[in-house]
Amino acid sequence: MQTKVLIPDAGAYQLASDLLNRGELVAFPTETVYGLGANALNREAVLSIFSAKGRPADNPLIVHIHDRSQLDDLCTVPPLAGRLMDAFWPGPLTMLFVRKPAVPLEVTAGLPTVAIRMPSHPVAAAMLKACSLPVAAPSANSSGRPSPTTAAHVLEDMNGKIPLILDGGECDVGLESTVLDLCHDQPTILRPGGVTKEMLEAVLGQKVLLAGSILRPLGENEVALSPGMRYRHYAPKGSVILVEGPEERTVPLLRKLCLEQRQAGKKTCVLCFTEHVGALTDCDPHDIGSISSPCEIAHRLFQTLRLLDEEGMEAVFSEVVPPEGMGLAVMNRLGRAAAFRTIRA
Ligand code: AMP
Ligand code: MG
Repeated sequence: MQTKVLIPDAGAYQLASDLLNRGELVAFPTETVYGLGANALNREAVLSIFSAKGRPADNPLIVHIHDRSQLDDLCTVPPLAGRLMDAFWPGPLTMLFVRKPAVPLEVTAGLPTVAIRMPSHPVAAAMLKACSLPVAAPSANSSGRPSPTTAAHVLEDMNGKIPLILDGGECDVGLESTVLDLCHDQPTILRPGGVTKEMLEAVLGQKVLLAGSILRPLGENEVALSPGMRYRHYAPKGSVILVEGPEERTVPLLRKLCLEQRQAGKKTCVLCFTEHVGALTDCDPHDIGSISSPCEIAHRLFQTLRLLDEEGMEAVFSEVVPPEGMGLAVMNRLGRAAAFRTIRA
């Protein structure tokens, strides 16, 4: 199959709509990462997402909508959700609702809940409107690779496997959406993202819990509340180790660790803040963004992780950000890239 990459115009939206209505796949930009979309109500179409990505069947998909009226057929919405929709939709917030029978169990991996989001990216919104379908879409990467934040990343993973990629440029947030469970006693973040815990608490006026495995590996017998958290995600081929501690100690330690590994014959680099690039020039510094801007770090993270593989890095040492606000989402992804291996300076 030939994969077309089109800059969205009326003809491209028409083609995307025709493909989706025929049960085929279309990759499209959202404000978080690129999604790989199929008609959420068509079982066969949904199954082809899993085969194109090589995704385990027990990892559920997020359903994307452009209008709240679409919810009626898909799920039962708890009262608390209305306030969050008013505040954060369209935007990078996915909420779990009780599934209605119209949603195939393939979408939810057999779970009684369905994850729903209304993206704000104008291309995603226009495509969803053009096709008039709820669109099930996970990130448009091959399973195990970092999520794609440009059309070129999607093409790297999906060339020849899907008919169309809509090219909307670089994604703004750069990390996947916040996944919030509203179906149990207390609202719980299963995956941190662009809508932070602090933002949710401000709107709800109550405490929002964090799933246990956000900043640590899942225990051996622990059930993943968000099935995606079970998988080795975002991990570059080389080893990644996080270095934590006060600035005056982390920078020299990063340098020491990197140069030791280089001496041992490994291809090595450091992931560091813009402010520390100058002190680490002999360590092949990869600038992850400013220490004061977790949003900038989020925006660049996945493209940096893809680059490490392209460069054949074998040992990577990275700085960390405080796990607050957007920093929590950064540390969830970076932590998993490192299998949470951390050295304290
Ligand atoms: P992706 O868009 O590729 O990041 O995948 C969607 C993520 O949403 C998965 O990793 C799931 O863990 C999460 N998710 C989707 N549906 C559910 C659900 N019903 N319950 C819990 N997590 C879900
Ligand atoms: Mg994904």
